[in-house]
Amino acid sequence: MPKKIPMRTCIGCGENKSKKELVRIVRTPEGELHLDRTGRANGRGAYLCRKEACLEQAKKRHALGRAFREEIPSGAYHVLEQEMHGLLHSGTEGT
Ligand SMILES: [Zn+2]
Repeated sequence: MPKKIPMRTCIGCGENKSKKELVRIVRTPEGELHLDRTGRANGRGAYLCRKEACLEQAKKRHALGRAFREEIPSGAYHVLEQEMHGLLHSGTEGT
């Protein structure tokens, strides 16, 4: 039997993908949103492709607000955009 790969839905494009293709967004107890590079941060999470386009779509669709059931300030998206940029262009991420 093939090994079951955990799948998650990207809140931007809505596609099901394996967890390693996605990045987790975590809401801290302080109410800030960050990309969870370790995948182990505590708190409520949502998943997004490792693509700036999907973050953009999530923003347009207010998908984060739905995922976290609260209003997301536009500043929070700005932080995520910067972190996504860092993630995609750092080249030092994991294996
Ligand atoms: Zn996506």
